[in-house]
Amino acid sequence: MILVETTAAMRQLACDWRTAGQRLGLVPTMGYLHAGHLSLVREARRQAERVVVSIFVNPTQFGPREDFSVYPRDLAGDLRQCEQAGVDAVFAPATGDMYHPDHSTWVDELSLSSGLCGASRPGHFRGVATVVAKLFNIVQPEVAVFGRKDAQQAMVIQRLVRDLNFPVQVVVAEIVREADGLAMSSRNARLAPEDRHRAVCLAEGLAAAQAHFAAGQRDAQALKSAVAERLRAAGAEIDYVELVETGNLTPVERVEGPALLAVAARLGGVRLIDNCQLGE
Ligand code: AMP
Repeated sequence: MILVETTAAMRQLACDWRTAGQRLGLVPTMGYLHAGHLSLVREARRQAERVVVSIFVNPTQFGPREDFSVYPRDLAGDLRQCEQAGVDAVFAPATGDMYHPDHSTWVDELSLSSGLCGASRPGHFRGVATVVAKLFNIVQPEVAVFGRKDAQQAMVIQRLVRDLNFPVQVVVAEIVREADGLAMSSRNARLAPEDRHRAVCLAEGLAAAQAHFAAGQRDAQALKSAVAERLRAAGAEIDYVELVETGNLTPVERVEGPALLAVAARLGGVRLIDNCQLGE
């Protein structure tokens, strides 16, 4: 496995592989890897002959009062996991290499980005779309794998690829969970033991709503309340509980077609997100 630390070297390596006729798969991450990330790597392995994992804690997707400085980092551990998973190259650029001091060009998706996490984290998806566009230009992968854990992010990336004609196939992989149901996340490492225990309330709330849905409940308010009650009972600070149309992320009052139930909440100051699909 090759550790690539500059954008120029990454571009060259990817170019060499392409010239040799090899299909490239990219898994963009912010590191502190867990089994969720590794499932994306396995998916990329199925789709491509060369797999690149990017590890870059992207400053532009964090707000001024967010957790950029305390976001968990462990490059040595990440490299070990990538090596074991059969990754061909880890791309871990320095911030100054990714962003020139006078960087002034942004990619801003204006529709899907506006609600849910976009509403509570202004500028977040502009940072995400910009860094992913840059990664696509540097690596030029045939396929890129994202997780449904960040369902809104995956949709924004799919829209970015469609609207700006990136020649990249976007694959979205399922959410990987801990044994108790908590969606795996690098941020889980920041939870105090008591909060880690309570963090299962997001998954439990979604499961409660899914049970109501299976029993015939279609009213959005009732379904969202099932999630909110569970979060409140666990002492979580709710950021949002939203039920939106899967295709365009606009809020629904009744679930008539495919819908996404999405939640964001804080436990001890650590912001967690989770979601599930309701309806086919
Ligand atoms: P992150 O490092 O948190 O920016 O995540 C990098 C990629 O891994 C994103 O596409 C995430 O959606 C995906 N991911 C994070 N957690 C999970 C999980 N529990 N299951 C599946 N994919 C995940």
